[in-house]
Amino acid sequence: MKKRITAIALAAFFAIFGTCVSFADNIEEYKEELQENKEQIGQVQQQLNQTSNQKSTAKAEVEKLDNELNKVNTEYERLTKELADTNAKLEAATKELEAAKAKREVQYETLKERIKVMYEEGDIGYLEVLLNAKDFSDYLNRMEYINRIMDYDNNLLADFQATEQLISDKVDEIEAYKQQLESLAAQQQAKKIELDGKVAEKLDLISKLSKDEATYNQQLSDLQEDNAAIEALIRKAENEAAAAKAAAQAAAANATQASYSTSNKVYSYSGGRFLWPVPAYVGVINDVYGYRSSPISGKGELHSGLDMKAPYGTDIVAADDGTVIYAAVRNGYGNCVIIDHGGGFSTLYGHNSSLCVTAGQSVVRGQVIAKAGATGYATGPHCHFEVRINGKYVDPNPYL
Ligand SMILES: [Zn+2]
Repeated sequence: MKKRITAIALAAFFAIFGTCVSFADNIEEYKEELQENKEQIGQVQQQLNQTSNQKSTAKAEVEKLDNELNKVNTEYERLTKELADTNAKLEAATKELEAAKAKREVQYETLKERIKVMYEEGDIGYLEVLLNAKDFSDYLNRMEYINRIMDYDNNLLADFQATEQLISDKVDEIEAYKQQLESLAAQQQAKKIELDGKVAEKLDLISKLSKDEATYNQQLSDLQEDNAAIEALIRKAENEAAAAKAAAQAAAANATQASYSTSNKVYSYSGGRFLWPVPAYVGVINDVYGYRSSPISGKGELHSGLDMKAPYGTDIVAADDGTVIYAAVRNGYGNCVIIDHGGGFSTLYGHNSSLCVTAGQSVVRGQVIAKAGATGYATGPHCHFEVRINGKYVDPNPYL
């Protein structure tokens, strides 16, 4: 890109200082460059828009995944707490288990004792106890005694079996809890890893898209810079072309002036109400105020002012202090200045090549207000000077 700019700058240099390339050709070339650049800008802009859209989509997906991840995390935390609670329950259940085991131990010892007694006193037996009764009353007592012992033994056994069952149930319950929680925690962990992976992937994509965006933005800024440089070159070439054209016109106008000036008459200027507005050619005129045959149409007309000698670019000055009330193109007067001097007096200066004042501005006597030219209805450069009283032109002669 820089290389191209250098080439353009060199082309401009040769266009301005060289002799073989016309300004118009260069301007056309620059404009083509500019068009190409603008097309490229359009393309890069499109790529940039696409990338930005992709980035927005990826960002939305990451947000969605983040939300999902948050839910999983919440669930994970809940499970972790549940796991802790269950561990506490497990501890309690373990204590209960220990207590049950201790109880079972005692029950077992008692049972063993009973079995031992029954075995040792096996000769006596329940029948012998009954047969050794002294009488029926004693028999009943002994019967009651034996029943109670049998009940006691049965209860002892049942209690022992219940404790055994309780212990077995507790152990199973605890084991089931542990397995369930471990499985759930493993599932959650797996999902979290999967989501983390997806988020990382999306973030990678966003980072890549951001880099692309930066690249496209840089390209855009380079192209725009390039454009500005080309536009500056176009303006410069156009200005040069305009200046060359103006210089050619001035040369032609001055050539006309040379022949126009041959008919110059010397006007008697002694210094009066107004200063002679062309200080370089005081008293030299091309035509007077009054009826004449128009130099443009050839028809008879009232010439409303004095035509003063003023070659192209000569300073035109204010005839007196005043306020500029008009400074612009005005029909046949071309570039025209009108100054209000107060007291009903105003002066007009026509056919200028350029104006040095603007409407509303105050000027002093002798201040440069314009450069002479041949704009409007003029056959060559001069200053058409009018004196007006209350807006109506009069012969300037008595006032100069
Ligand atoms: Zn005139």
